[in-house]
Amino acid sequence: VVRIAGVIKEFGPLRVLDGISFDVARGQTVAIVGRSGSGKSTLLRCIAGLETIQGGTIAVCGHAVGTPGSAARAQLRRDVGMVFQSYNLFPHLTVERNITLALTLVKKQSKEEARKRAADVLGLVGLTDKTASYPEQLSGGQQQRVAIARSLALQPQVMLFDEVTSALDPELTAEVLGVMEDLARRGMTMITVTHEMGFARRVADLVVFMHKGKVWEIGPTEELFAAPRTPEFRQFVRSEL
Ligand code: ATP
Ligand code: MG
Repeated sequence: VVRIAGVIKEFGPLRVLDGISFDVARGQTVAIVGRSGSGKSTLLRCIAGLETIQGGTIAVCGHAVGTPGSAARAQLRRDVGMVFQSYNLFPHLTVERNITLALTLVKKQSKEEARKRAADVLGLVGLTDKTASYPEQLSGGQQQRVAIARSLALQPQVMLFDEVTSALDPELTAEVLGVMEDLARRGMTMITVTHEMGFARRVADLVVFMHKGKVWEIGPTEELFAAPRTPEFRQFVRSEL
């Protein structure tokens, strides 16, 4: 579903992604791990079409990720859902309206269709009882689950998650990770940047360890954690315990 080949991303003189290549198959869950500054968020932003790249190619569902503003980018927006650490819900809108807004405005769905879709995705994240609440009436974990539901409502082919739990308390982290684990089990294709090694080991099919803008190690989760090949990854694993 996702093909990343030789991707180079530079910010001025700084090369942040230095020839990144890997593929993600349909239904796979990939965990991207690595130290701060290794280029994880930048890579996700490139996959989402939010950054122009200086070399290589990225394709999602057979569509090349074009330069920002291109037609390819519009298609990509439909194929890729992305959730960030900050959930960016509209504070003056109810949970339901936060979800139906894009459906009625962008997807031109009827109010009825959109409300039905909102009910479906709120069910998926276990928040059926919060439909009429406002974001400030919810916990951080619940708000993050609404953000995930909002993304899911657009029926993306691939979901990208960038440290979605790092602002949450452990208890709330667990409920958000639970929702993500559920999605993975339902066959959603997911690429997640995470510091939750337990989650990565339990849920990911493939782990990508990034270091200095490169794919330093990549492989099936258990294999990789059982036998790190490089000192950098070994040290990273030890530091995250
Ligand atoms: P963290 O774990 O802290 O989130 P990360 O692996 O996600 O780190 P990135 O955010 O991808 O790292 O950043 C990689 C490098 O690119 C860093 O050196 C960062 O300073 C640089 N960088 C990121 N965005 C920009 C930007 N818009 N302009 C200039 N440099 C940037
Ligand atoms: Mg980051």
